[in-house]
Amino acid sequence: MGKYLLRSVSDGSVQPANSLSCPHDNSLLRADYQARQIELKRLPGIWRFMDWLPVDGIIAKAEGAPVTYRSRGLARELGLENLYISFNGYWPERGAKMPTCSFKDLEAAPTMQRLMERDDHPTLVVASAGNTARAFAQVASLTSQPLILFVPEKALARMWTTVQSGIVSSGADFGQVTLVAVQGDYYDAIQIAEKVQSRPGFVPEGGARNIARRDGMGTVMLDAAIALGRIPEHYFQAVGSGTGGISAWEAALRLNRDGRFGHHLPRLHLAQNIPNAPIYYAWTGKEPQPIENDMFDDVLFNRKPPYAIPGGVKDALQQTGGEVYGITDGQAEEAKKLFESSEEIDILNAPAIAVAALQQAARAGTVQPKDIILLNITGGGVARIKEELYLNMLKPNISVSHWEPAVQFLEGKK
Ligand SMILES: *Cc1c(COP(=O)(O)O)cnc(C)c1O
Repeated sequence: MGKYLLRSVSDGSVQPANSLSCPHDNSLLRADYQARQIELKRLPGIWRFMDWLPVDGIIAKAEGAPVTYRSRGLARELGLENLYISFNGYWPERGAKMPTCSFKDLEAAPTMQRLMERDDHPTLVVASAGNTARAFAQVASLTSQPLILFVPEKALARMWTTVQSGIVSSGADFGQVTLVAVQGDYYDAIQIAEKVQSRPGFVPEGGARNIARRDGMGTVMLDAAIALGRIPEHYFQAVGSGTGGISAWEAALRLNRDGRFGHHLPRLHLAQNIPNAPIYYAWTGKEPQPIENDMFDDVLFNRKPPYAIPGGVKDALQQTGGEVYGITDGQAEEAKKLFESSEEIDILNAPAIAVAALQQAARAGTVQPKDIILLNITGGGVARIKEELYLNMLKPNISVSHWEPAVQFLEGKK
């Protein structure tokens, strides 16, 4: 057999290499790696976790990786003795060099590599509120793979990369990257993208169903377990889709099977920004509040998270004895200030929601002072990166409000 088999989580059946779900019950599929124990490779960035990534080769220039360190400042503020931070962003003093400053860099590199290893070389279609699109634009600009991005107009300000100008041409033509601005929200962008990705020659990125995405994000847990010598007891993360939570759980399952990092699962503590918090309402049984257009961080906006499907967020929460927190804008704002002043690095708004959840859990005694805690700071260092690198803005090639002009434009380009 190859490096791994693609298995349905619900019934264990082996599915064809590029499937996205189990034909029987829509279950998530999971890579069942041949390597039972992980052996770190002498490779740059996340590629050192190669044994548990669904690829054979690497994109050497995509070398971002999570950095795990022991917190002093925030730990003291919260009265926690064993608080570890997984920093996913740009902070060279700590060795963190994610080129687009969020943990979406962890999913983009293995996804693009896996695509390169397919025989049919399809064009990847990504709908995103910003961070995912930016991460994919960065990798595709490095590899010159074709990519189509659908991004809400409001999120265009987030569309930058740090690929050096000169490698890519300026203006509308960014290598093989096509940027379609959508007049609407993230949900509208998804709906238009769906019309395009169902056509021959195009493939969807797959979201939570993409194993390269999940196993790339799972390296946060792997890096932490290796740094700590054990699986942490708690894992805190801000979620929109919850894919990062599923990934942390799956990585912990593999570490259990490995045997050298303990035999327990970390409790998942997932944080959402209320009122746009479907996972929070589903898990707690509280009455959902109407959706608001303005939120503390719209990268966490997701109307249809992979919650109740086999292998999804609900299973991850149930198996790990998890919790979901509903955080207000005000709580997130305060937590952001606390983090930035105590850890001395700027962070994105989304991870501030995880910091607020940790603050609540520490106050309520849900976590104890000596517990071993991993806090995933899912993005940061944008202010830091601007001191050093030039950010190339991506300009949209076209702006649409319906799918027809988008398809017409893309077919015309072929
Ligand atoms: C995407 C994103 C998240 C949430 O990720 P999930 O897919 O819900 O796990 C959190 N923080 C940042 C910065 C993100 O870009």
